[in-house]
Formats: sequence, C-alpha cells, structure tokens
Amino acid sequence: MPSAYEYSKEELSELLAGEPRYRVDQVWHGLWEEAQEIAGITTIPKSLRARLSEQFAPGLQVVNDLESDRGATRKWVFRLNDGSTIETVLMSYEDRVTVCVSSQAGCAMGCTFCATGQAGFTRQLTAGEVLEQVMFAARAASPRRLSNVVFMGMGEPLANYNVTVNVVKRLHEYRGLSARHLTVSTVGVAPAIERLAKEGLPLTLAVSLHAANNETRNELVPLNRRYPLERLHEACEFWIETTSRRLSFEWALIDQVNDTDQALDELARYAYSLRAHVNLIPLNPTPGYLVRGSPPDRVRHFRDGLEAQGINVTVRNTRGRSIDAACGQLANVTNAKRRSIPVRSA
Ligand code: SAH
Ligand code: SF4
Repeated sequence: MPSAYEYSKEELSELLAGEPRYRVDQVWHGLWEEAQEIAGITTIPKSLRARLSEQFAPGLQVVNDLESDRGATRKWVFRLNDGSTIETVLMSYEDRVTVCVSSQAGCAMGCTFCATGQAGFTRQLTAGEVLEQVMFAARAASPRRLSNVVFMGMGEPLANYNVTVNVVKRLHEYRGLSARHLTVSTVGVAPAIERLAKEGLPLTLAVSLHAANNETRNELVPLNRRYPLERLHEACEFWIETTSRRLSFEWALIDQVNDTDQALDELARYAYSLRAHVNLIPLNPTPGYLVRGSPPDRVRHFRDGLEAQGINVTVRNTRGRSIDAACGQLANVTNAKRRSIPVRSA
C-alpha cells in the first residue's frame, strides 16, 4: 500500500470519485497544509477516514525519539515498511524551524568521515517516505510552522534523483516552499548537478566540498576520483549560469587535514572563482573516523582567513551531537553503543 503522500491531487480526486467535490479539498488541506495523518483529518466523516486509512499505509514508524539542546533539536529513528531504518532531525531556531531529511537508507558514497557513509547503502527512499519525514516534523513543530527543508540527512539526494526532484516540486507547489527554504546538499555528482540546473526548480544547492585539492578530496570523498575538482567546477559554473543562483560549499573542518593555511588558500581560490558562500562545520565525531574536528581557535582563524580573501562564510553550529543528530552522525547506532558527547557550539 502506498503512502498518501505518493498521490497527486488528481490521483486523490480519482480515489474519491463519488464523494462530494469539496472532500478532495478537505483531505488535501488536511494532508498538506495541516500535515495531518488521515486519522487526524476531522473535517471529513469517520467512515471516509476509515476507508482512506485502508487505502493508504504510512511509510514510517517511529522507533526512537530523542532530543537535545533543551528540546530545540529532535531526532527520530524511523522504521520503514521493509524493516530498514532512517533518521530525521528537527531543529528549532528563533527565526526558523528546519527539518533535515534523509533521501536514502544509508549511502553508497563512502565518505570516510561520515557515519552514514561508513555504514553503507541499504536502499533508495520513495517520494512518500521523504515527504512523510517532512510532514511528521511539521506536526511535531506545531504550533510553529515548519519553514525549511534541507536534504542533509542520510543519503545522497542526487543519487536518488527523480525522488528528490519530485519531492522538491511537491514541497514547492503544495507547501509553498521556495529556494530560500529548500536546500539540497550533494557530495558533487557533476552530471546530476547540471541536470538539476535545467529543471528550473526553486532550490538552493549546497555542495559538500571539504577539500579543494584532488589528493585530499580523493581521500575524504571517494566520488572525487570519478568527478574531480575540475569537473565539479564546470558543473558549479553551469549551475550558476543556468539558475542565476548562488551556491554554497560545505566544509567539515578536520584537524590538520583540511584546516591548514594551504587548505584555506585552496578553498578561497575555488570559492572565489564561483562567488560561492562557504559553510564551515567543525567535524562531528563518528565511530569509524579517528581524526578530530578542528579546535575552536582554528575554526575562527579559518573563517577570518576566508573573509579576508573576500569569501562569505558562516560557521554552522553543531546541533544535536549528544544524540548523534549532528551532520554526518546519522547511522542508527544512536547512543546505544556510544557515550554522549557534550553539545557545544563553535
Ligand atoms: N550526501 C549529501 C547530503 C547528506 S550529508 C552530502 O554529502 O552533501 C550532509 C552534510 O553533512 C554534508 O555536507 C556532509 O559532508 C556533512 N558531514 C558528513 N559527515 C560529517 C561529519 N562527521 N561532521 C560534519 N559534517 C559532516
Ligand atoms: Fe553520503 Fe553525504 Fe555521508 Fe558522503 S557525506 S557518505 S555523500 S551522506
């Protein structure tokens, strides 16, 4: 049985043929605007709720619900219908509420410093499974409105291309989210970046760079051997020209690996030539990678150095470390096997 979020409005109308026309709007409003489950759409009769509940099967079941940062960060582990598990993180800030969704169960890209990459690939998610993560988070965020969706959970969204495009389109059409509120993060699948540029979707693209010389990047991001920095640069240029949008680079600062003055200069050159924004993330600890994140003074030095070279920089804070909810820590090994690490902001 499919998730209700697999359906377009037309398909839903067909399913509800025989019902008064306004029922379609009520169900649609309940699902998309109010982020309700069928059982929670109280504007429709109980009998219809019962019928629809038999037609649709929710794709996610909560198996773990964790919070940190005094409730401002929440992480859910969901079991999918085939038993595999994924994770979703909700982050509340003063000015926005952001959900970080998974696009795949696991990831095949094998980045060495990422817990998801260390655990390997299980399967692609369906559009319904990605959208249900968003809607679940929207319900949990209530009465605040979920304002941002970022594809920065488990998986490589551009390796699940059609689903990613489909989800972005629907979030735009049905939830009104636009480029400032929708971010897809990719490890740098160059041809897919170019294809995505041509879709004309309202989204922000973030590219996980982490190194701006091929030798280091080959080590950190194995995909770099297939699409080295020169090829990635072409794709980024194409993105900017085609969409007229800025892109941002993600850079997880790793002690003595990519936080040196040489790395700084390499990044500054690469980012400057593309007028890209840089997001620095002090590396979060993962079980399979024994190198540490850069110390706070190194993070500041790196930020100041980039700024001095004319680059726009943001230092991202490391929300959710104590529940393994921070960037790169999603791997369903939560807390059971590891001691908590105190949350701190850089
Ligand atoms: N696969 C996509 C999106 C998911 S990863 C991508 O790689 O872009 C989301 C972000 O977390 C990426 O920028 C990734 O490089 C970063 N990340 C992975 N492991 C990390 C870690 N241990 N510490 C900090 N950031 C990490
Ligand atoms: Fe996959 Fe992104 Fe992790 Fe690399 S950093 S292994 S692409 S989830």
